[in-house]
Amino acid sequence: MPQPILRTENLSYSYDNVTMALSGVTLDIPKGKKTVFLGPNGAGKSTLFLHLNGVLKPDSGTVFYEGKKISYDSSSLAELRKNIALVFQNPDDQIFSATVEEDVAFGPLNLGLNREEVGRRVDEALSWIGLENSREKPTQQLSFGERKRVALAGALAMKPNVLVMDEPTAGLDYEMVHELLELSDELNNRGLTVIISTHDVETAYEWADEVRALNAGRLVFSGGSDEFFEQAELLHDLGLMPPLAFLLNQQFHLRTGSPEKPYPRNIVELSQKFFSTTNQSVGKITLVCVDEEDIQQMAPRDDLLSVSHMHSGVFGSTARRIARKRQLDVHYRFHAVEFGLLAASQGSDFTIYTDSSLCGLVESKVKELEMHTGLHIDVTKASKK
Ligand code: ADP
Repeated sequence: MPQPILRTENLSYSYDNVTMALSGVTLDIPKGKKTVFLGPNGAGKSTLFLHLNGVLKPDSGTVFYEGKKISYDSSSLAELRKNIALVFQNPDDQIFSATVEEDVAFGPLNLGLNREEVGRRVDEALSWIGLENSREKPTQQLSFGERKRVALAGALAMKPNVLVMDEPTAGLDYEMVHELLELSDELNNRGLTVIISTHDVETAYEWADEVRALNAGRLVFSGGSDEFFEQAELLHDLGLMPPLAFLLNQQFHLRTGSPEKPYPRNIVELSQKFFSTTNQSVGKITLVCVDEEDIQQMAPRDDLLSVSHMHSGVFGSTARRIARKRQLDVHYRFHAVEFGLLAASQGSDFTIYTDSSLCGLVESKVKELEMHTGLHIDVTKASKK
C-alpha cells in the first residue's frame, strides 16, 4: 500500500467534554483518489474534516499529513493549509470579505504571494466555478449557491494538494451539483486528492473510489466503494437506501444470472450491460479540444460555431466557459461523455467540446466502452490549426 496522504490515528474529540463527537477514529485517505464520507447527521463527519487541516485539535490521537504528524503552531498550520483546503458546509462560516474578488484573494494574499500571482489565481479559481463575471459583486448580494461557489473558489486559489468539501452539493441546484462533481473529477485528474461528505448515495456511488462511513463518532466502514455498497445491513444501519443503479444491476443478476461485477455506475455502463448493441451502425465522436487561448480570442473558431444542439456537450471547466461566452447551444452541460457514448453506440454522431488536458481522459473512456462492447467508435480530434 502506498503511503496515505492523510491519516488519523485514534482520534477523539468532544465539544463539551460530555458527548464524544469522535471516538478513536483511525483511518487512511489514499493519495490521488476520490473519497466520500457517509453517515447520518451528527455522525462526526464535519468534526473529522475540521481536524484534517488543524481547525480543531484532537483531545487525543494524531493526524498525519504525508506521513508527518501535524503540529499546531501558527506557522505549521499556515503551511498545512497551503496543502489541505477545507470548504465548510455553510459558506457563511467562510466568507468574510466585502466582494467576491477580495474573498477569493484572501488566502493567496495571506500566503505572501505577489499581486500578479494572486490576480492569476483569483482569475483561474473564479473561472473554474463560473463566476468570472462577478468579481466586483458584494458577497452579501450573492445567492446561497453562489456563496458556496465563492467559498470553493477561495479554497482552489490556494492550489492545494487535498481538497476537502463538507456537503458541497447540499443546497445547490441540479445543474450546479453536476458541474461541481465534474470539476472535482477534473481536479482529481490533475492529481488532486478530493474528499467530500454527502447524504446523496447516488452521487457517492457514481463518484467515489473510496468510502469511509461514520456513525455516532465511530468509524464503521473503510474500504473501496464496491465493498461498501455490497453491505446492505450496514447501509440500512446508516439510514441509507442502496443506489438505484446498484439495485437495478442486482435485479438483472438475480433474473438473468449475469455476473454482478463489475458494477455499472452510470447510464452508459448500465446500458451496455443490459442491452446488446451489435448489428447496429455506430456514430462517430468529434472531440473539439479547446484551451485558455480560445477564451481570450475575440472571434470564435469556426468549429466552435456550428453544433447540432441535441448531439453535443461540454466536458470540463474551460469548455464550459467557452460555451457560456460564445453562447454555444450545446445540449449536455454535464455527463457529455456518457451521452456522447450512448449516442455513438446508437448510430448518431456527437461532438464533445473539452479542455485539451482532458482529451486523453475522454479517449480512454471511449476505449473502455469499445473493449466492453466490441463496437468501434471513430474519434476525430479537431484541434487548432
Ligand atoms: P456530521 O457532520 O456527521 O453531521 P458533526 O461533526 O457536525 O456531524 O457533529 C458530531 C457531533 O458533535 C454531534 O453530536 C453534534 O451535535 C456535535 N457538534 C457539532 N458541532 C458542534 C459545536 N460547534 N458545538 C457543540 N457540539 C457540536
